[in-house]
Amino acid sequence: MIKTLGYAAMNSKSPLAPFQFERREIGATDVQIDILYCGVCHSDIHQVRDEWGGSIFPMVPGHEIVGKVLKVGPKVTRFKPGDLAGVGCLVDSCRTCDNCKDGLEQFCLNGWVGTYNSVEKDGAPTYGGYSKTVVVKEDFTLKISPKMDLARTAPLLCAGITTYSPLRHWKVQAGQRVGVVGLGGLGHMGVKFAKSFGANVTVFTTSSAKKADALKLGAHEVIVTTGPEAQKEFASHSGAFDFILDTVSAPHDLNAYLQLLKRDGSMVLVGAPPKAPEVAAFSLIMNRRQLGGSLIGGLPETQEMLDYCAEHGIASDVEIIPIQKVNEAYERMLRGDVKYRFVIDLGSLK
Ligand code: NAP
Ligand code: ZN
Ligand code: ZN
Repeated sequence: MIKTLGYAAMNSKSPLAPFQFERREIGATDVQIDILYCGVCHSDIHQVRDEWGGSIFPMVPGHEIVGKVLKVGPKVTRFKPGDLAGVGCLVDSCRTCDNCKDGLEQFCLNGWVGTYNSVEKDGAPTYGGYSKTVVVKEDFTLKISPKMDLARTAPLLCAGITTYSPLRHWKVQAGQRVGVVGLGGLGHMGVKFAKSFGANVTVFTTSSAKKADALKLGAHEVIVTTGPEAQKEFASHSGAFDFILDTVSAPHDLNAYLQLLKRDGSMVLVGAPPKAPEVAAFSLIMNRRQLGGSLIGGLPETQEMLDYCAEHGIASDVEIIPIQKVNEAYERMLRGDVKYRFVIDLGSLK
């Protein structure tokens, strides 16, 4: 076994603290990665605090991992020591079901294995990227271009693919009006991708202080949903949008946004508040609107997204923190005080 160090929560009430644990020995098809950076996703907070239920402790969170390959097993063909590598939310799936064969491992019919808060096929718990090193199957390891800034690439492994995938699936393109609700880690990547695909982007934010940033990130228009003009703005945008991407992490009213969709428009939830939303039938019946959801993305699409970002110079806007500041970072995220993703520099973990 490989001894390593990480930061873990021992239960849903405890802050994260240093934790020693073991990774499996490198198998024939495994890659061992020296973790350099790991992004902090709001899903880490939901799971550490057991807001979705079923959390497994001790929990080492982190599924936005980039680093350098240390060692590879004898059957590994795509990686060698020294290569850059990334790991997202998935570390295994059956690879034989229809969804896996379609490259949609996140919908594996036989159950996928999450990077943390999950169990391997042999029953061993998985531990995430708030740690020095990780051992991952080659098939679940992503290539990172040496052109990329590594800290700014880490968030692409979850926030990036989670926004890229629905924008591609719903064929967002030039000439369309797209709304992005919530300007956090996911939201700011949603703005960058939608803009890059040629859409006219409107950001809906509760934070008036984010207005200038939203425009800098590529939004054409910003609506502050807590402002005095909000009601008028919603009314004047009724039926205006082709597509709305909802990235909000807390319960909020979906009906107000559904009203903004034009005929056959779609609103897609990627934000995952624990409490079920209330949707009025008439919000959907009128204009034949659709409400959908989307979960991260499969391995082929994650690689496609990383390659797209390398080619188009797209990366996350980050604040790099030492791991000792991770509990504070959680509190700041809950206050909406992050621009726009915290990324842990694992060099700080000694
Ligand atoms: P984040 O950085 O904390 O951003 C969430 C944003 O939501 C905040 O910045 C804020 O934006 C807005 N918000 C927060 N509380 C709100 C409230 N009460 N009412 C309205 N807006 C509010 O979080 P994230 O990492 O982007 O994650 C967002 C959500 O996506 C989380 O629930 C996470 O678990 C989920 N997620 C889902 C997937 C998936 O595969 N579907 C993948 C990753 C994450 P403003 O300040 O602009 O209002
Ligand atoms: Zn995530
Ligand atoms: Zn499968």
